Amino acid sequence: MTSNPHSDSKFDSIGSRRSNRLRFLVYLMLMSCVCGCGPSTTAADSIDGSLAKLSPTRAIESIKALCAIGPRFSGSIGMTKQQEFLEKKFTELGGKIVWQPFMVRSPLDGQPFEMKNLIVQYFPERTKRVLIAAHYDTRPFPDRDPTNPRGIFVGANDGASGVALLIELAHLLNYASKNSPNSIAVGVDLVLFDGEELVYQEGRDEYFLGSTFFAREYLAAPPGYTYNAGVLVDMIGDADLSLYYEENSLKYAINVTKELWKIAAELKIKEFKPKLLHSVRDDHLPLNEIAKIPTCDIIDLDYNDRIKKRLNYWHTTQDTPDKCSGDSVVKVASVVWTWIQRQKP
Ligand code: ZN
Repeated sequence: MTSNPHSDSKFDSIGSRRSNRLRFLVYLMLMSCVCGCGPSTTAADSIDGSLAKLSPTRAIESIKALCAIGPRFSGSIGMTKQQEFLEKKFTELGGKIVWQPFMVRSPLDGQPFEMKNLIVQYFPERTKRVLIAAHYDTRPFPDRDPTNPRGIFVGANDGASGVALLIELAHLLNYASKNSPNSIAVGVDLVLFDGEELVYQEGRDEYFLGSTFFAREYLAAPPGYTYNAGVLVDMIGDADLSLYYEENSLKYAINVTKELWKIAAELKIKEFKPKLLHSVRDDHLPLNEIAKIPTCDIIDLDYNDRIKKRLNYWHTTQDTPDKCSGDSVVKVASVVWTWIQRQKP
């Protein structure tokens, strides 16, 4: 699996440090899935027809449209263009737009500048809510690129795929809010985090600026509603999709995590594998640790070339739309949508 020689990196393979206790935990999880998933139903009898409104073609077009803007790192012209694009898109899709601006200092020169999280609300009057999140900034440079680490990084999978998934959900939420509002019992916020990785130098620059601000603000200025749970998606557009349990998601949000993988089994989406492989530092950490919102991270760390397995596109110039698939986005969106439909206030 993806490994990173830098101990301060976002991703940490747990394979090398898996303790006996963890092995036992994995065993328990596998057993509980084998024993606890029950008879699987077919996709057709577990849904109300809404999943057919997801579109792989539209999902890959969303990824292409975002990448066509170019690099979209925090504070860039591309990010401003993306913000305009998304405000228009989500407004057309019936969402209530809430911008959450905050000031940070540039890791390059210390100058203050503004970042903005985008919160798109459906059923805004409901006080029991869930959040579905993704980061929408891209890394400033493809610093893991073997030949061009200061080249152009457009983040098709690492950035755009998560946004594309939220756009797909917005299509279903827009339809549901107008035609079948009782098909969902909770309010839903689609949350796009800025500043997930404005990282020029590992170990010096901070990750998760947007999600950290969001989590602190949720505590400091309670919004009058509460989030029961959350799902974060990151790098879910890989054409060769494999989704494993993530250690911090099991630690903080085991019910959410198990429920998502159980739904995937019901829908016969085999890319969700009920097995623990990685520990990931991602935007779900501030949500879990600061805001105490149990939040699962659905993330595919194995972003490798199908043939040349050692060729990894992550944080390289090769993270482009041709490595992604609208089918992958829709598979994950199907699971998340079904999870939303099952949430109780
Ligand atoms: Zn990244």
